[in-house]
Amino acid sequence: MHLTETCDPQSPNLITHVVTTDASVQDGTMLKAIHTGLAGRGRLPALHLVDAGYIDARNVLAARRELGVELLGPVRPDTNRSAQKFGTDAFTIDWDRQTVRCPDGRTSVVWRNKLHDRHDGHRGRDPVIFVRFAARHCGPCPLRDRCTISQSGRTLMLRPSREEHELLQQARMLNQTEEWRRRYNPRAGIEGTISQGVRAFGLRRCRYRGYSKTSLQHLFTASAMNLTRLDAWIGGVSPAGTRISRFEALRPAA
Ligand code: SF4
Repeated sequence: MHLTETCDPQSPNLITHVVTTDASVQDGTMLKAIHTGLAGRGRLPALHLVDAGYIDARNVLAARRELGVELLGPVRPDTNRSAQKFGTDAFTIDWDRQTVRCPDGRTSVVWRNKLHDRHDGHRGRDPVIFVRFAARHCGPCPLRDRCTISQSGRTLMLRPSREEHELLQQARMLNQTEEWRRRYNPRAGIEGTISQGVRAFGLRRCRYRGYSKTSLQHLFTASAMNLTRLDAWIGGVSPAGTRISRFEALRPAA
């Protein structure tokens, strides 16, 4: 179940869209359906806070270009980086010449478009640019320990376009800033929505068999939750804050 809700501080958090899928569907592939549904009702947000499963360079660009929606969420770590390895940001990419220069000043010898297995645990393949450096350069390189253990030379997987690559690099940097955290913070409310749905409305169980009836159950549940929230808002009841453990409560205030 994919839920979208408002998170303006001056109004109650109301669920604006519900879509039901089977569990094997990757979150990011549902984004277009969610945005189309929201646009159809005139509820498309200017800023859409999502979790990491929905964030992908293609989704961010498509939302911005086609709908004028800013998609904000955590970007997955650079898959070219590991504890010892230089990440992509240590390399200089020349997109026009289709070459990459490494931290030791060597130029790549392979630049090839290919399909690569997804690295997020879901089935399917993503288009990438495969880059490789020559074994004759990497073998005697003084930086080899910090770069690669491959006998055939360091490899990199880049996004298929410069625009997607640069967007991800910039987003990873922004993810580390206080300003980004401040903007993203209101998304935490959706966890409370899911918790409320599960605890108070039995959302964990399907009451009926089949996709259509399950989808209908989800719509009714979301409607009931909205009515409950409106009632609380009109009655002046504030939403509950984020719960913390008793142990964490002992921590002195900063
Ligand atoms: S190991 Fe290869 S790619 Fe890495 S810095 Fe050395 S020459 Fe460059």
